[in-house]
Amino acid sequence: MSIHYKCRHCGVSVGKIDTMSVDSQALGFHQLDDQDRMNMISYQNDGDIHVKTICEDCHEALERNPQFHEAETFIH
Ligand SMILES: [Zn+2]
Repeated sequence: MSIHYKCRHCGVSVGKIDTMSVDSQALGFHQLDDQDRMNMISYQNDGDIHVKTICEDCHEALERNPQFHEAETFIH
């Protein structure tokens, strides 16, 4: 069983953690409320956990231009 981190914006795989080597408390899931947990974390049929996060590229793009999509439309 492993935890896969995927970017919520572009879907790129950000990282993977083998849960055998990780204390689930250390992942911080227990700090999330139920709503956040449902939004961010999906449990797969094979027992893996997929966590939605943001990759460095998208993080940078959004920081540089939070109105990215509107700006793109504007250019056209
Ligand atoms: Zn991304």
